[in-house]
Amino acid sequence: MSAQKEIIIIGAGAAGLMAARELSPQYNVTILEARPQPGGRTTTHYPAPGIHIETGAEFIHGELPVTLSLLQEAGIPYHPVNGEMYLAENGELKQEEGWIEDWDNLLDHMSKAPETTTMQQLLDQYYPAGQYADLRDHVQGYVEGYDLADLNKVSVKYLYDEWTLEQGTNYRIENGYTALIDYLSKGCKLITNQTVQNIAWQPGHVKVTTQDQTYTAHKVLVTVPINILQNEGIQFAPALPAYTKAARQIGWGTVIKFNLIFKQAFWKRDIGFVLSDEEVPVWWTQSEDSLILTGWLGGPHAEGPQTDLLNKALHSLSKIFNVTNIEDLLAQSFIHNWSAEQAIHGGYSYGMPDSEKAKTVLTTPVADTIYFAGEAFYTGDSPGTVEAALQNGKDIAIKIKSPQ
Ligand SMILES: Cc1cc2nc3c(=O)[nH]c(=O)nc-3n(C[C@H](O)[C@H](O)[C@H](O)COP(=O)(O)OP(=O)(O)OC[C@H]3O[C@@H](n4cnc5c(N)ncnc54)[C@H](O)[C@@H]3O)c2cc1C
Repeated sequence: MSAQKEIIIIGAGAAGLMAARELSPQYNVTILEARPQPGGRTTTHYPAPGIHIETGAEFIHGELPVTLSLLQEAGIPYHPVNGEMYLAENGELKQEEGWIEDWDNLLDHMSKAPETTTMQQLLDQYYPAGQYADLRDHVQGYVEGYDLADLNKVSVKYLYDEWTLEQGTNYRIENGYTALIDYLSKGCKLITNQTVQNIAWQPGHVKVTTQDQTYTAHKVLVTVPINILQNEGIQFAPALPAYTKAARQIGWGTVIKFNLIFKQAFWKRDIGFVLSDEEVPVWWTQSEDSLILTGWLGGPHAEGPQTDLLNKALHSLSKIFNVTNIEDLLAQSFIHNWSAEQAIHGGYSYGMPDSEKAKTVLTTPVADTIYFAGEAFYTGDSPGTVEAALQNGKDIAIKIKSPQ
């Protein structure tokens, strides 16, 4: 009988762990992870008994088959997200009506735009700044906040596909996403604090070097965030210039997430989400009895060096909720600036005009020896999510098991 094949998976996020689960009956799998713990962008923090904070992923955006079936299999409870959407305007909170002037017309233009058009080009063509300031502001807020994207780079087609999809109910996992990560990690050969720097390869053999160790295997599956490939954070020998070029054709945005624990709830309990024009513009509540408010600053405004983040968050909240003594009400704060997070350096990917072609390159194996997976390589209906990472990890593992 021939010896079992060896594979190294780089990255213990949702994609890497899902791939390991799919591969382990046939392969001897070793996962190398740069951070001290698995999870990557799916990492829950437990600051005190009974309190958990999602530093990264928090929601399940709809009836997502891979995520929900894993939770059911593991017996991990999850619950629908309740609460209304509010707009903060001139010191008042108004329930959002969900109607934006010219929105249907915008979607119509978006549906007909050529694949190479960016959102900025479409706005400039049909919605000049002087005449359509409100619509342009709304689009910009949504593109930057939700998609973490730059209007000058994001493709209209990507946004159209995402905006016109029925999402359905959102869910949260009872004790946070780490419950799912723990389930997936069980039984894995996972080595943490190993930052991969080099992969020397020839068909059927890889030598993977970290800051202090070398590992060998027949194959490697790289599941690091796309910006690490864009910036050649891992060196390949021989080099893979077509893959680096393709990685740079995928958009990469960043986000700062705030979790502020207060001594008392100064907000109305039925508030779900609040959208505003403040420096930290988006906020949401947790469960009915929770004293946590979560803030979100996404896209170009979250890039680069940041100062005074807590003050900016508190100032934004004091304006939104009309509260003067907000500092006195704060008990604890947790701020995660994802562009500064070790081995991640950002939030999630978005589609640029050439991204789909780039994904075809990146998901083509190199000599049946080097493979890539992760949320940025996914092409289905839930881009930029944990579902995308799980599904893509699973798909690539199936490809590895049955090479063409
Ligand atoms: C603030 C925030 C909020 C989000 N909210 C949601 C949400 O509500 N719902 C949702 O579905 N999705 C959400 N997402 C997106 C979701 O978290 C990601 O799409 C998903 O977790 C990506 O999984 P992945 O396995 O592709 O990558 P990652 O989770 O990034 O895993 C990659 C792993 O590779 C490791 N690594 C990197 N470089 C190296 C190296 N050189 N050597 C070894 N290891 C390395 C990293 O440490 C990391 O653990 C959010 C993301 C962020 C940042």
